[in-house]
Amino acid sequence: MKNQPTGHTGRHFLQIPGPTNVPDRVLHAIAAPTIDHRGPEFATLGKEVVAGLKRVFQTKGTVVIYPSSGTGAWEAALVNTLSPGDRVLMFETGHFASLWRQMATRLGLDIEFVAGDWRHGVDPAQVQEKLGADREHRIKAVCVVHNETSTGVTTRIPEIRAAIDAARHPALLMVDTISSLASMDYRHDEWGVDVTVAGSQKGLMLPPGLGFNAVSDKALAAGKTAKLTRSYWDWQAMAETGQTGFFPYTPATNLLYGLREALTMLLDEEGLPAVFRRHQRHAEATRRAVVGWGLTVLCADPREYSSSLTAVLVPDAHDADRVRDIILDGFDMSLGTGLGKLKGKIFRIGHLGHFNDLMLCGTLCGVEMGLHRAGIPHRAGGVAAALEFLGAPDGAA
Ligand SMILES: *Cc1c(COP(=O)(O)O)cnc(C)c1O
Repeated sequence: MKNQPTGHTGRHFLQIPGPTNVPDRVLHAIAAPTIDHRGPEFATLGKEVVAGLKRVFQTKGTVVIYPSSGTGAWEAALVNTLSPGDRVLMFETGHFASLWRQMATRLGLDIEFVAGDWRHGVDPAQVQEKLGADREHRIKAVCVVHNETSTGVTTRIPEIRAAIDAARHPALLMVDTISSLASMDYRHDEWGVDVTVAGSQKGLMLPPGLGFNAVSDKALAAGKTAKLTRSYWDWQAMAETGQTGFFPYTPATNLLYGLREALTMLLDEEGLPAVFRRHQRHAEATRRAVVGWGLTVLCADPREYSSSLTAVLVPDAHDADRVRDIILDGFDMSLGTGLGKLKGKIFRIGHLGHFNDLMLCGTLCGVEMGLHRAGIPHRAGGVAAALEFLGAPDGAA
């Protein structure tokens, strides 16, 4: 006998770590008629979204918006600042760091890729050691993925900055915040980041389709002599948007309507500090569930726990993708797959973006039922542990 009808009812649970659930308000905003991107109404929109994004990046510097996925914003960061053959220090924190490295190699950069075990973030001591050994300053940039979405591990960016400063090294610091921005505390200016890379479809609660760079004056200056070929991605033409509100080519107008709505929700209604606390709390509840099931959180260092997703190791000889398939078929919930060398070994629970306590409870119930159906050795009580935490009289704030 089948447990579930094949046609699903109610809402699909999109609990992958991006794209995330888009609020109905944002979808409605996107549905407005497209306007003339050279007209006065557009200029107001352009200036508003750049100003809002600066508050999210916590920068007074330049913010650039591309009609692209996050990968485009990666490319923009590299081609606007570097020259062919430049040495770049990168770290194997997981799948996304490996893809960024692959791109940098294809662009003709000379990558020093520090090996990692996909369970830790970037080690500040290693950054200091590598830069300290580079007396001739051949390394032109250090690239770090803030929140490695393939592993659920977050690197402590202020400590990376401190390591670069301790080595007295002039390399640019570039940080991928595609799955952390607007979910976890991030400070472009205060943390001395030169280029921050972001995208629309994760913490910003938008559909895919916008890529962002926040750019320091030092990175803009590096662009004056950088010789990598660029045209579409060139910052120079884009850097004026904050002042004029206009873009050098047709922007993704309707996504910008959605961005304006999402920024209102994040900045003016909930407020970023509350957004960050909410993500921390949901991440903690999720980890309590994982421990309650007797399973293992992939992130090996509690200082590096991600607030936007949790990667869960399934016991050896079990296939994590089979668990995901059973959960999708039975309960209409999508979980993140294991990427690269983690294929089949983990599943990932996204708890970022437009999300609340009961959505998390539903998500964890779906996982617990799926573990049961898939015959994964585990204990009951994971959901109970999360409920106890979330339902505590003090709200576990
Ligand atoms: C999602 C993601 C990317 C890739 O972004 P796309 O929008 O798919 O191009 C890169 N880095 C990180 C950390 C991500 O989470």
